[in-house]
Amino acid sequence: MSSGLRLPLEAAGLGMTSQRARDRLVERLREQGIRDARVLEVMRTLPRHLFIDEALASRAYEDTALPIGRSQTISQPYVVARMTEALIEFGLPQNVLELGTGSGYQAAVLAMLVKQVNSVERIEELSRTARKRFRKLGFSNVRARFEDGRLGWSEHAPFDAIIVTAATERVEPQLIAQLRPGGVFIAPVGGPDGQRLMRLRWIEDRWQQEDLGPAMFVPLLGGTLG
Ligand code: SAH
Repeated sequence: MSSGLRLPLEAAGLGMTSQRARDRLVERLREQGIRDARVLEVMRTLPRHLFIDEALASRAYEDTALPIGRSQTISQPYVVARMTEALIEFGLPQNVLELGTGSGYQAAVLAMLVKQVNSVERIEELSRTARKRFRKLGFSNVRARFEDGRLGWSEHAPFDAIIVTAATERVEPQLIAQLRPGGVFIAPVGGPDGQRLMRLRWIEDRWQQEDLGPAMFVPLLGGTLG
């Protein structure tokens, strides 16, 4: 593809009928301040309706979070765009870790941009469904694992970027240790009193921390649910 995006042919074919709805969504994201052309192009191309239940498919291109079962949600498109933009701002990472696979949508967005995505999910059913989606859509550069992801995925470390898509009050040192020097870490940080989307980078022997604004994610929880 001329844009250099990694959209598998399977996914391209399945997204043809909903193109206009996605074009409108991308226009809205642009109006809300998403600037990165690569991110906008991915969101214009990837069929989000294939990551949710068919009963909700007609709402797939509204800019809202939607339920995906087990009290979890697929993130709002604006949030996915903003986090992706912030993750790739300093250069395209090659090897990315995501905590909280959920529907698999954020992982697929990343898989269109970067070489390898590793995604961990603590609810078995969601992990299994997401894995099926990656296979059906033809994404061969996403590894999905059913596990409590708080300690990362050391087998595939170091990562150029880590994205946490559930809110955490505490960032585990073992997780941060799996980041390559200069790597980017993004997570909603906070508890019931409010969350902030934080970006951390390890630069010249110290952590550089930026607050990217308010966030509203389901919590990062311990243990697994089979
Ligand atoms: N990125 C997802 C949105 C996920 S919602 C998407 O694009 O659809 C947050 C997800 O994080 C939920 O599925 C939840 O089960 C998962 N999660 C919460 N705590 C976790 C943990 N410790 N390890 C892995 N996944 C976790």
